[in-house]
Amino acid sequence: MDVKKIYMDADALLEGHFLLSSGNHSGYYLQSAKVLEDPKTAKLLAEALAAQIRDYDLVVDTVCSPAIGGLIAGFALATALDCRYIFTERVGGEMTLRRGFEVKEGEKILICEDIITTGGSAMEAAAEIERLGAEVVGFAALANRGFCRRIGSDIPRKPNCKLPDDKPFFALADFDFEMYSPEACPLCAEGSEAIKPGSRGN
Ligand code: ZN
Repeated sequence: MDVKKIYMDADALLEGHFLLSSGNHSGYYLQSAKVLEDPKTAKLLAEALAAQIRDYDLVVDTVCSPAIGGLIAGFALATALDCRYIFTERVGGEMTLRRGFEVKEGEKILICEDIITTGGSAMEAAAEIERLGAEVVGFAALANRGFCRRIGSDIPRKPNCKLPDDKPFFALADFDFEMYSPEACPLCAEGSEAIKPGSRGN
């Protein structure tokens, strides 16, 4: 499956000067929502991800996504895995489980994002799930930005990956674009301003 082509075809791989949620800048941005606006594509991607997870023999009771980015990918993955689906959301900056969602002691939960960059939001969701007594058994995303090591890829784990190295991380592709700290950003040096994706019609 050529995930990069799927993103390109859906205009979901943007070129410009972007401020990422991590605070870093990049010349590229992945707008997964554009890929997932076609439910058939979402289903296709989720089924490929679910096949990887089944091949690994990972037992998953529930998929949990951090809102908003992970919602559609997580729902599609839970559908493909035929399991329960819940999500966490930020309230006053804190990742929390709301809306009457509950988890059981020892329930096996897979955290699913659209894209894993350093895994910050995924880890906040995982911390909340574990605080409530369930077990986080792994992580999944449609694509990996190249900081964490996914199952089946030789791209090594980088020091700023926040995902634990003792739990599997499943993704369909590596999108290993360069990112820069604002101080070292060559696009800033050229005088342009980094924009937050989604804030100006993208
Ligand atoms: Zn910049």
